[in-house]
Amino acid sequence: MHLGEQKWTDTAELKGKVVVLPLGSLEQHGHHLPMLTDSMIGGEIARRAEAELGDEAVFLPTLWTGASDHHRAFPGTVSVSNPIYVRLLVDLMESLIGAGFRRIFLLNAHGGNITPGRMAIYDVQIQHRDMPDLWLAFSSWWQIAEAQVAAVEGLQAKMVTHACEQETSMILRLRPELVRLAVARGAVIPFESAFYSLDFQRPNRIDVPRTFDQMSETGAIGHPELATREKGEALFAAAAGEVVAFVREFARGETFPPA
Ligand SMILES: [Zn+2]
Repeated sequence: MHLGEQKWTDTAELKGKVVVLPLGSLEQHGHHLPMLTDSMIGGEIARRAEAELGDEAVFLPTLWTGASDHHRAFPGTVSVSNPIYVRLLVDLMESLIGAGFRRIFLLNAHGGNITPGRMAIYDVQIQHRDMPDLWLAFSSWWQIAEAQVAAVEGLQAKMVTHACEQETSMILRLRPELVRLAVARGAVIPFESAFYSLDFQRPNRIDVPRTFDQMSETGAIGHPELATREKGEALFAAAAGEVVAFVREFARGETFPPA
């Protein structure tokens, strides 16, 4: 169910449920994908999960405002800085906590939201350390469904990056009329390091931040030209399935007393 469709007088009955807040962005996605890509993907995963969960969980609208300052060299990107994004998430969570909700899941669809998103849940949890029944969770769809995403048939890319094979497949599935596949080109950076990968093709052991204009001329990474609708459907199904499974587990979650 959607919180926005309820009356405020219903809130007291709903506060025992898990609340899911999908996090998106509005930023450049190469020459071939719409700037709202991450919000569309996060919104669709949430829509599928909500359809499956029904009254089991409460969904908020997808937050389109993201932390995308590393994309701002590409005009059209609309972003808030990391400190403002942390504050925004903290205030949204505090509204929910004030209403009585005690299990909040931030379901992320944009890489730039990871660092401030994690900071926000840690800050709020520390602020409420006298509230042991408060549980906060954060994950990105490619993280919660990492094994299932890697198992999708036909994918050449092992990692989800940006305006890449995976994201392009998902928008092809969802809004094909918005994809310019003929001009889909992404950067593949021939960079050798045992420690980190500039184009996110391997897991990093060292964090080395670069802005997107320092990495890609088009703004995309990888091989978006390999995208298909079928891969997109498989990715949505994988992500939504894991979100449903986690929300059900989170709803049951025990409250562990300090040992
Ligand atoms: Zn994206």
